[in-house]
Amino acid sequence: MSDIKLIEIDSVPNRGRCVDRLCAECERLLVPLKALRPRRFRLRRRQALVFGGLAAVIVGEARSQGHNAWVFSYMPPGVPVHRSSESAVARMLEPHSSETWEFCVCSACRQQLQDRGWEEAELEISPAHDLAFHGLGWLTVRRATVVFRVIVPAGVHVSRRPRLVAGK
Ligand SMILES: [Zn+2]
Repeated sequence: MSDIKLIEIDSVPNRGRCVDRLCAECERLLVPLKALRPRRFRLRRRQALVFGGLAAVIVGEARSQGHNAWVFSYMPPGVPVHRSSESAVARMLEPHSSETWEFCVCSACRQQLQDRGWEEAELEISPAHDLAFHGLGWLTVRRATVVFRVIVPAGVHVSRRPRLVAGK
């Protein structure tokens, strides 16, 4: 992923929302009509989640015994969440790769996202935090802090914030 720009999250204000990059039809995918229901994943280092081709995370490090990351995703129902791996994500990010994300958006939006490119950031998320993809959804972790490599369309804001939904 050497061609991806590494960004300093905290120093880049007023970045965009994912939903604003899409046409009106695709935008509806990202506007949940019901409360978001979390999906639970157990991941190890170098395993990844891909969110409808709109964002991805790779587990860089999980600070638990056994190095497991317990991740909950809160994404709109129109956005599929797939397990993947660091190497598969790297292949999909190559400019002329034959492999592509499993996009949940139309071909015009997809082309636009590909043309603008992707950015990567690293964020450490504890169980007290959310990892928020602005204009898309968010992730939480349980039990152990996880360091994520986060991939988003260039200019889309990702951040760490105090956890929104109280845990059980
Ligand atoms: Zn579209």
